[in-house]
Amino acid sequence: MKIGVLALQGAFLEHIEMLRKLGVETVEIRQKGDLVDFDGIVLPGGESTAMGKLLRDLELFAPLQEALRGGTPCLGTCAGLILMSKRFEDSEWRHLDLLDVTVRRHGFGRQIGSFATTAEFAGESVPMVFIRGPYITEVGENVEVLAKVEEKIVAVRQGNLLGVAFHPELTEDFVVHRYFLGMR
Ligand code: GLN
Repeated sequence: MKIGVLALQGAFLEHIEMLRKLGVETVEIRQKGDLVDFDGIVLPGGESTAMGKLLRDLELFAPLQEALRGGTPCLGTCAGLILMSKRFEDSEWRHLDLLDVTVRRHGFGRQIGSFATTAEFAGESVPMVFIRGPYITEVGENVEVLAKVEEKIVAVRQGNLLGVAFHPELTEDFVVHRYFLGMR
């Protein structure tokens, strides 16, 4: 199994480390030529605006969108969730336009929006670290809600797309990554 991790910006090293610990081969996606036929792709947390711009500047945007539309499993964490999503509460942005949800960026607040908690993810208790993360305000018909915190939706799945508002890669807990690797 080979997983591509988008490595333009943000917390990609932590995902690579996590996947290595699970015995999975990873490849850093930095340019167009790196985007080969992966068994899964990780879009890390970081700054979605910067990542969206870099994806376009490096001509990675269209091939990445095509791979994910074609069914490659994808885990998007925090900014990665934003990149995947179709709609935003506070703007008309167009990112990858895949996941049928509406997202509120910095939903838990910009200043005090960083915290750690434990909540259920797909029926398992999981530690969750939030760093000025978004949450999901609306989901489409085919979207399964996997986790909620403070009654806000923080993890969803739609087919090959898994979007989480928190940072599983900053914990020692493998539940989310294992779930992702099982999505094939
Ligand atoms: N607020 C960031 C964004 O909009 C996401 C924060 C994060 O990834 N930790 O991209």
